[in-house]
Formats: sequence, C-alpha cells, structure tokens
Amino acid sequence: MAQLELRFPDNSPGQYYVDSNCIACDTCVGISKAHFRLTSNYDHAIVIAQPRTPNDIKQCDEALACCPVNAIGNDGGK
Ligand code: SF4
Repeated sequence: MAQLELRFPDNSPGQYYVDSNCIACDTCVGISKAHFRLTSNYDHAIVIAQPRTPNDIKQCDEALACCPVNAIGNDGGK
C-alpha cells in the first residue's frame, strides 16, 4: 500500500499519487499515458493528471492494482 507521507511532490495535486517506493518500471504508463509518466530523468513515475471520468478512474485503479511495488496510492481526496 502506498504511503501518503512518501508521496512525490511532483505528482499532480489530487487523490492519486506515486510514492517513493516506485522503481520506474513503466507499467502504470503503459496502462494509462493520460495519467502517468516517468520523470525526465527516469527516476520515478508521477501522476500527471487526476482522473475525471469513470473510465479514467478505472484506468488509474488498474495501474494502482498492477504496480509491482504498490507505489500508487489513492487517498480518497483527503
Ligand atoms: S507501476 Fe509502480 S513502480 Fe512501476 S513506474 Fe508505475 S508507480 Fe512506479
């Protein structure tokens, strides 16, 4: 489970985020380029846009479920 206190500051503001456990495997980007990308130095992934539609949410939830190190979180909009 991702940890809010480890959230990278370069994530787009909002409920979905990537934390510092990310190993830059690119899986989330492969699932949704609209919401995830690797940083320019390939250090880690970030959320570049928060989901707006039910289909967006489905994609982000799929990325969250497929992350091999559980580095994607959803804080529920806290
Ligand atoms: S799937 Fe997880 S480990 Fe892989 S790039 Fe995305 S956030 Fe990082």
